[in-house]
Amino acid sequence: MRISSILFLLCFAFSLFQAKAQNHQQRSESLDVQHYRFEITINDDNDRIAGKTTILIRFLKAGSEIQLDLDAFDFSSGKGMNVEKVFANSAELKFIQTKKQLLINTGKEINAGETLELTIEYSGVPADGLIIDQNRYGDRTFFGDNWPNRAHFWLPVVDHPSDKATLEFVVKAPGHYKVVSSGKLVEEKKLGNRQKLTHWQENVPLSTKVMVFGAADFVVGNDTVWNQIPVNSWVFKENREKGFHNYRYGTKALEYFSASIGPYSYEKLAHVQSKTRYGGMENAGCIFYNENSAISDKSQEDLFAHEVAHQWFGNSATEENWHHVWLSEGFATYLTHVYNQHFYGEEMFRNGLKKDRARVIGYFHRHPAPIIDTTVTEYIRLLNANSYQKASWFLHMLRHKLGDDVFFAGLRNYYREYQNKTALTSDFRKVMEETSGENLESFFDQWLRQAGHPVIDWSWQQTSDKTIEINIKQTQKQAFFSFPLEVKLDYKNGGSATFRINVSDSTTQQVLQVSGNIRDIELDPEVKLLFEAVK
Ligand SMILES: [Zn+2]
Repeated sequence: MRISSILFLLCFAFSLFQAKAQNHQQRSESLDVQHYRFEITINDDNDRIAGKTTILIRFLKAGSEIQLDLDAFDFSSGKGMNVEKVFANSAELKFIQTKKQLLINTGKEINAGETLELTIEYSGVPADGLIIDQNRYGDRTFFGDNWPNRAHFWLPVVDHPSDKATLEFVVKAPGHYKVVSSGKLVEEKKLGNRQKLTHWQENVPLSTKVMVFGAADFVVGNDTVWNQIPVNSWVFKENREKGFHNYRYGTKALEYFSASIGPYSYEKLAHVQSKTRYGGMENAGCIFYNENSAISDKSQEDLFAHEVAHQWFGNSATEENWHHVWLSEGFATYLTHVYNQHFYGEEMFRNGLKKDRARVIGYFHRHPAPIIDTTVTEYIRLLNANSYQKASWFLHMLRHKLGDDVFFAGLRNYYREYQNKTALTSDFRKVMEETSGENLESFFDQWLRQAGHPVIDWSWQQTSDKTIEINIKQTQKQAFFSFPLEVKLDYKNGGSATFRINVSDSTTQQVLQVSGNIRDIELDPEVKLLFEAVK
């Protein structure tokens, strides 16, 4: 076929579809995926997967087009997905593939409120999203690794956290693989020809970022049931002993966060040794940990607490848009500190916060940006000290502003309201305002939407036996912050006293009444403020 006739056919094909692709907003207003059934066949000869995905879509607006995300086959790399057939009610539908999308014409207008079930048959070698690689023992493994929006490299989906759907993974694999995914195991059966089918079903809606399966020569252990939730560990067969030992925290964080936040959302909790590119990936009810986690001599407890905390925040109450990812990472980071505070005490808690504070300050000097940074378009770049440590510090300061009881009641209310849904920062703020009865707008804005932190230059002098004077100056180039600063005064003859100074201007001068000579003053002795002191 000559190039001109290809062009003609392409033009003809496009004429069946709207001239312009929808943006995220337009698409989310026109359709809502209800359910995915992913049938995937994997093999031991090559990295090609065969997929058959059945999608139940509800139309929010009348229309005849469906725009899904799917990475198309690319001749130069030999990777990508080639769609062979799309059909609904056994009638074939017209479709075209662009580089990143699959556009389907339903053939007739579907009314708003109606649903359509369509099936897509496709195959190819995933360029990303499904990691097909040998583990450290040379065994072949398959691990979905979708964060942030890498599901479309191997699955036809609406690859955005705002569109949650229930799902099934039906994986056909050579019989030696054990396959794990979210939800309940529906069926595991031999197919003949040494093949095996494993069918998992998740009845709680998830975002695509946490919809995966893993296949490897796993051994499964640490089986337990907590509060009717099955919990177990999946590790490579060579790591049976060390892996089960390292993964022994299976239920500890589950119990703790269930008690302190609210009921766990999913049917089970599997802890899985994997090839995820991340330290851990919080896939819903089926957490993937890095390969070394099952062999390391270092405690994996923080990692476990972080990923388990995500089951509440990130997976169940999900950020509706990427720029609000702090609602996921900031929460998991802070709740890990809170977990450590509960189980291991104040010193460990404060040391963790101090370490994070140093990271936030260091990061700011390299990348001066706010936590909610709408200039970021490459979402992987949102995995930074702002989304994690600074957002964790934001929650820590919010806790001190509101007090423990109100703060944790607010978290519970937020979870209750947005469980299995999606939320924006404004939704979280609204819940915290309703819980506390306080207007939190300026507090949220200065810490989440303004770059930087207070950089404090300070001095003090004893002005009499009964008074000292403290001068505090905010020296950052960015806008001034408004915050309470605690200062601890140590007396020369022993003893100490702590005062709180409200700072909101560039300079604050405060005279404090004392009862003797002061030896030294410490700012923020209880690690409650994100700030930097001028040396
Ligand atoms: Zn995380």
